Parts: sequence; C-alpha cells; structure tokens
Amino acid sequence: MKLDVLVFEAHPDDMELSCGGTVAKMSKQGYAVGVVALTKAELGTRGTPQDRRREFEASANVLGLRAWDVLDIPDGNIANTPENRERIIRAIRRYRPQLVLAPYWLDRHPDHANASVVVREACFYAGLTKIDTGQPPHRPGTVVYYPLHYEFTPTLVVDITDTFETKLAAIHCYTSQFHSRDNRFDSEPQTYISSAEFLQVIETRARYWGSKIGATYGEPFLWNGPVPVSDLPGTFAKISDLR
Ligand SMILES: [Zn+2]
Repeated sequence: MKLDVLVFEAHPDDMELSCGGTVAKMSKQGYAVGVVALTKAELGTRGTPQDRRREFEASANVLGLRAWDVLDIPDGNIANTPENRERIIRAIRRYRPQLVLAPYWLDRHPDHANASVVVREACFYAGLTKIDTGQPPHRPGTVVYYPLHYEFTPTLVVDITDTFETKLAAIHCYTSQFHSRDNRFDSEPQTYISSAEFLQVIETRARYWGSKIGATYGEPFLWNGPVPVSDLPGTFAKISDLR
C-alpha cells in the first residue's frame, strides 16, 4: 500500500501525544497516513504488550490511519544495528511515503533519541538499490521531527484546532497509560503520565503552540533546514503577527 505520510514512533502512544492532532488532520485532508511503532513497549510500567497493541489499533482507527504496524524491536534497546535498520527499510519500501515523521533526536528517553537516528538513517539507506530486501528501493522526500520530552524552536506549527478533540480521543484509547475515570489499570503503579495533571499538560502545550500562530491549538515540528518558499506574499497572505 502506498502512503503519503509514514509516522515512526518508538512506543505506541508517542505519536498521539506529540502530533496526533496533525496526523488526524492529514487523514481528514485525504492524505494516506500510516504509523509504525518500533517496539511493543513491553517495558511500560502499566499494562501488557497485548493491552498496548489493542490500544494502538483503536487509536489508529480514531485517527483515520490507513496502516499500522509494530516492528518488535526490543523496548529499551533501539540500537542502530543493520538488523533494526533493515526492519525499518522494509517498512519504508512497503509504504513508499513522500514524508516521514520521526521523533526529535534529543530526548530524555534514550529510545526516542535512538529511534530518531535509526529512522533517519533507514530513510537514506532505503533508497540504495544494492541493499536488497526483495522490494524496490524507495527514499522518502524528507523527514520532519516531532518533540517528546525535550523541546526545540520549531520550524513550523500546525493548526490543530479542528482535530484537537480527535487527538484527545486517540490518547484516551490508551487506557493503560493515561488517566480516565474508573480505570481498570489503576491498581497498577501510578506514573507521571497516568496522572490527571498530565492530560492538562497536553492541553497546555497545544494551547501554547496554538497561541504562537493565532490558533486555539497547535503542534510544533522541526525540519532540518529552511522551508523553501516560492510565493512569499502568498505564504503570508493569511498570517499576521500584528493583530
Ligand atoms: Zn515513548
């Protein structure tokens, strides 16, 4: 299946937390979007990999995704090895996206930082004919990065006002991870992200980035270079920072 956009995440729920509103928006706009989780998140404090898989699939449905896969790289050990790169290359060649979204390369969680590097390298190597996976080579046009714990000065912010509720609905699919009333996982250890306050942090972040672009909610992204523009007045036609 050919996709327009392929999102890589180290663990099922990373994408939803950081850029689920943008993913929902791209689906709504008619783009074919898919997600590949590198691990099953078997080291997660709450829930089992089976719980997480069900939640991942439910979230993918909420976000309108066309494809979703889990690569089964060991959680806590996303090493930049030829074997792991090949797994990612196979996914890139299967879906042939123009755009790849990946976690930002600096993060508190080593899996997120490592995922960023191995995905970027796999995007390059997927274009080399002599790396033989039995599939035609394919190199995505570009990789755009989304933040998790560590922030960056974004290259661009996507207005997600119309899909913020969908983002929250996708996050709420992960009952094992996040706060909800009458949560059957509440007998398991509480974590920072399972607290009610964490959901407020998600909203606060989205409101903050929205405020930077004159929208109610926004999500920031980083691109490794200047964004090419050929129509300067057109690009800024609907933008004013003097309001
Ligand atoms: Zn994660």
